[in-house]
Amino acid sequence: MFDALVTRARVKSPWVLHFDCGSCNGCDIETLACLTPMYDIERFGMINVGNPKHADVLLVTGTVNHRNKKVLQALYEEMPDPKVVIAIGACGLSGGVFRDAYNVVGGVDRVIPVDVYVPGCPARPEAIIDGVVAALGKLRQKAVPTAAGAGGNGRFHPRMKATGSS
Ligand code: SF4
Repeated sequence: MFDALVTRARVKSPWVLHFDCGSCNGCDIETLACLTPMYDIERFGMINVGNPKHADVLLVTGTVNHRNKKVLQALYEEMPDPKVVIAIGACGLSGGVFRDAYNVVGGVDRVIPVDVYVPGCPARPEAIIDGVVAALGKLRQKAVPTAAGAGGNGRFHPRMKATGSS
């Protein structure tokens, strides 16, 4: 019962972490535009957080390269389960125009699992918001209740702690 309540809270009010792997920053500008009053994703209960331990959704823009792939992997590992990943823009999907560069690994899914792909160069804010909504459906499917409210990787989600369940 309590787990179902927490899952509902997480899906209804997802906390989002944005990581930029690099590239031209076009997709980052579009992603940040989602936070502006014009698109205002906070009206859907979403907030942008800076700590991976607080995040439900990881938004990744830019091209993964040999230098930043370990950072991306570390951020992913630190997020509590269940979690979802959205790759944004042609660079996030495949490396985009930079895919043949010597230091480029490729798309985000070469390094961590991706749940939703948002194409475009750049991806439009409306498409990014659609991607987040699709990802929340996957988050709901992944949310398997576990003992004492712990995530699948053994970490407490901060919202569980805030309710005093730990
Ligand atoms: S997909 Fe296009 S707009 Fe987005 S970061 Fe890559 S080059 Fe820039």
